[in-house]
Amino acid sequence: MAHAPVLVNLLDLDAAALAAYVESLGEKPFRARQVLRWIHRRGARDFDAMSDLAKSLRAQLAEHAQIAAPGVLSDVTATDGTRKWLLDVGLGNAIETVFIPETDRGTLCISTQAGCAVNCVFCSTGRQGFNRNLTTAEIIGQLWMVEHSGEPVAARPATEADGSPRVRTVSNVVLMGMGEPLQNYDAVLPALRLMLDDNAYGLSRRRVTVSTSGMVPLMDRLAADCPVALAVSLHASNDALRDTLVPLNRKYPLRELLAACRRYLRTAPRDFITFEYVMLDGINDSDQHAAELVALVADVPCKFNLIPFNPFPQSGFKRSSTERIRTFAQHLADAGIVTTTRRTRGDDIDAACGQLAGDIRDRTRVSERTGRKVIPLTASAH
Ligand code: SAH
Ligand code: SF4
Repeated sequence: MAHAPVLVNLLDLDAAALAAYVESLGEKPFRARQVLRWIHRRGARDFDAMSDLAKSLRAQLAEHAQIAAPGVLSDVTATDGTRKWLLDVGLGNAIETVFIPETDRGTLCISTQAGCAVNCVFCSTGRQGFNRNLTTAEIIGQLWMVEHSGEPVAARPATEADGSPRVRTVSNVVLMGMGEPLQNYDAVLPALRLMLDDNAYGLSRRRVTVSTSGMVPLMDRLAADCPVALAVSLHASNDALRDTLVPLNRKYPLRELLAACRRYLRTAPRDFITFEYVMLDGINDSDQHAAELVALVADVPCKFNLIPFNPFPQSGFKRSSTERIRTFAQHLADAGIVTTTRRTRGDDIDAACGQLAGDIRDRTRVSERTGRKVIPLTASAH
């Protein structure tokens, strides 16, 4: 029986892998640069469009390769302009990508796994369990899709902050969607390289942020292989509490995690680590916790990003009050730590991590709630 040929998905390949692939087709490896630019800078979907490539190479690629990103299941925009896509990654699994427009930048929050094995108790993705790692194509495909969707993603000025014409939609990428990026290291690394590559997205290392729950050995690998900005999900001021909130802490306790943060800073593109801290009412938000936190991070140059807990059904947690968050933030600021509190955005489209994909097994509910429906816009051009 004849088998259908397996097509190589070129979105899986970073520059080095694409050069090797092009060479395996009997072509000069430098041709890969042109192909990379066609795919990632110009959003080409088929090989006929690649007009400056030799016909023979185009024919070879058309026969053996494809450019395939995950399909869009739903696409909703919140009243504040936050836009969220639910993407199909097969076998009933869905992932989320969120675009957050701001006046001086556009941040894309991408997923790295369907589900997550770390199982943090306050996280909707964690509660869904782990389904599978995303491929490089599925990870970079989220950025590719948003950059090349051919429509305005949201109302953003036609010029950049410095007055130059706006060339791209996405100025910052954060790996803060579903999944623990460092538990899918082998697929994440080529995706990061593509984000930084001048022939692809050309983002500076400071504008690409990996967020981790604390995979200590892989933080060291990332520092060596591809140091980008790092956010660490701390969420607790001592091991006893963190053990209960972030189960990975039992493997890599705070002392080891903070030592890894200090090592990371030797090669990091920024001179601080961002600590994320979810504000859970009555759990980790007291003045004592704040004081303990200040002492804990005393020798790690850092900033804090306080995240008001995003509730989801049966979570069992409540968001700290605005007043409590303000007092907690002030406590850190008084100790000289730059502290920001994340604005809750996209509340009306469940933009919080993992909320929408958790419903995918009940497709009716998803289409009722979100299917291609656009919630009235205030901040968007369309
Ligand atoms: N797995 C990585 C990155 C994805 S989660 C990590 O944990 O760092 C991105 C951030 O959202 C993390 O800081 C995570 O702890 C936080 N988060 C998860 N669930 C949340 C919720 N329900 N409300 C607020 N923040 C949450
Ligand atoms: Fe996984 Fe991050 Fe959620 Fe923890 S917070 S379960 S590491 S996605």
